[in-house]
Amino acid sequence: MTKPVRRRVVLLGGVAAGLSTALGTTTATATASVRTAARAAGFATRQAGPFEIIALLDAHGPFFLPLRESFGAATDEVWARAERVDPGAFGPDGAWNLDFRCFAVRLPLGGVALVDAGVGPASSPAKSWAPVPGVLLDRLAEAGIARDDVRLVVLTHLHEDHFGWSVSPDGVPYFPNARYVVQRTEIEALERAGDDVVLSYVVEPLRRTGQLDAVDGEVCLGRARGGAVSTLPTPGHTPGHQSVLVHGSDSRVVITGDVLVHAVQLVEPEVSYRFEADEVVARRTRLALLDDTRRRPTWLATAHLTRPFVRADEGGC
Ligand SMILES: [Zn+2]
Repeated sequence: MTKPVRRRVVLLGGVAAGLSTALGTTTATATASVRTAARAAGFATRQAGPFEIIALLDAHGPFFLPLRESFGAATDEVWARAERVDPGAFGPDGAWNLDFRCFAVRLPLGGVALVDAGVGPASSPAKSWAPVPGVLLDRLAEAGIARDDVRLVVLTHLHEDHFGWSVSPDGVPYFPNARYVVQRTEIEALERAGDDVVLSYVVEPLRRTGQLDAVDGEVCLGRARGGAVSTLPTPGHTPGHQSVLVHGSDSRVVITGDVLVHAVQLVEPEVSYRFEADEVVARRTRLALLDDTRRRPTWLATAHLTRPFVRADEGGC
């Protein structure tokens, strides 16, 4: 597991108030009622301590490169194991069919943390390659989550298919009550690279409204009796990539972002993805995360597999 650069607690805005209120006062009734609402609406969910994690599918479609051009090093035996884990990702003629998924983490006494913001509307920056428009806003409504209820938006990284619904094309944040949590190293890497698309589309509008929270390393986003939610630096796919760890006393969910983008990287974490910014660091991160999560019961909540939740030890030899 990647070591934290610096640990601090950010109980932000409404989340701070909500979780402070929740500490020591969470009731079984409150937790059960929100769990029932999401499941009754047909959403895949998992529970980690007092937190409910809800999978929200924004879009689905084929990738612009075939599988074997996206993950060059996998053997036939590895591909066969991957297909047993996630058969839905294998399309005709070697195509890679992938989901574009976000997750909502329900806080025990109200409020939601949204992890990733999907491909976005029809005119979003992801339109050149991803299946836009996404349907995240509709899915949130169907799950009973109002945009005003979202207190945190954690962006695992600043790729187009992960920030699409964070800010509108005319620069207005979709979640007016949210703090947007991004690793500072992710922003600094874009600034060093002279990026003129992502920074102007998503970072500058959030700076203007005062909603951007650039964080360093592992950060506790909130605690409640029996569990906590925190960021987990997982660099490699991008320089400042982060995952989100939600844990209870005997259960954990890691919302992985793009640490692994296909089941082939779950069954064989040495396999690199063609578009990783630093494949050596990405491989080291993936090996460390999967090694850690295989030591104790953990669900991986994935952005791009066609199964929202998988066990870290699925598909082994
Ligand atoms: Zn992605």
